[in-house]
Amino acid sequence: MTALSGKIALVTGASRGIGRAIARRLAREEAIVAVHYHSQADAANATVAEIAAAGGVAFAIQADLSVPGGATALAKLFTAELTQRYAAPGFDILVNNAGLSKRATIEDITEDDFELLLQTNLKSPFFLIKALLPHFREGGRIVNISSMGTRVAYPTMAAYAPAKAGLEALTRLLALHLGNRQITVNSVMPGATATDMNAAARDPVASRAVAGTIALGRVGQPTDIAKVVAFLASDDGGWVTGQQIDASGGQRL
Ligand code: NAD
Repeated sequence: MTALSGKIALVTGASRGIGRAIARRLAREEAIVAVHYHSQADAANATVAEIAAAGGVAFAIQADLSVPGGATALAKLFTAELTQRYAAPGFDILVNNAGLSKRATIEDITEDDFELLLQTNLKSPFFLIKALLPHFREGGRIVNISSMGTRVAYPTMAAYAPAKAGLEALTRLLALHLGNRQITVNSVMPGATATDMNAAARDPVASRAVAGTIALGRVGQPTDIAKVVAFLASDDGGWVTGQQIDASGGQRL
């Protein structure tokens, strides 16, 4: 038996970047993985195919999490799919990974963009958890992907960092609230990670400058974050709850 055999996971924003690495890693540990995506159906299907080629089980599921009602719609699709496949909607692991960043100071950010960032990074994870709560099996896991931008001051994260900080506050209170069901709730805070969201971390020249602010001397890769999530999702991670786990290689310590 490997760590997650028999478990079912939903990973939001899993068609690319950190979410894709998390989906692949959880599937490698033998979890059945729902690969949520927004608009990139081909990329989501490619993630599902990669998992299947490696001997795992996954399926893709679409929803827009930037709009009110999107999270509830995703929960309905996910539980309907589980019921169809496995005759019951119960599941074990939710990774709220989908997120949206827009670099702007308080002077520059518009109210519409503030709403968009709050909806995508905080409201949708909140309402996804709320809608899925009845379906978590005992010993479930919730992992919320936050950002080290809640620990360090980045003025151009005027809306993004407060939204992620809200997600961390939610993490802590839910850890207490759900403890009696043996459900753990944690946040993981990536630092600069080489994905579509972080152009500097992907660029060979700019990433060298960023690496200079990181104790371990390089930018993160999506797999660095996936390893931490896999630990929290595993039985070995079962005594950790209500925590904000910095996974930045020691950025701006
Ligand atoms: P990414 O842009 O590659 O991935 C973001 C994911 O969120 C995508 O799969 C995308 O489809 C999904 N998403 C965006 N808008 C959506 C919407 N309206 N509806 C549904 N899904 C939507 O970036 P990433 O780096 O892989 O980001 C993953 C998580 O890590 C995010 O929560 C991000 O805030 C966080 N993070 C990233 C970094 C970094 O440097 N890359 C640093 C700190 C935190």
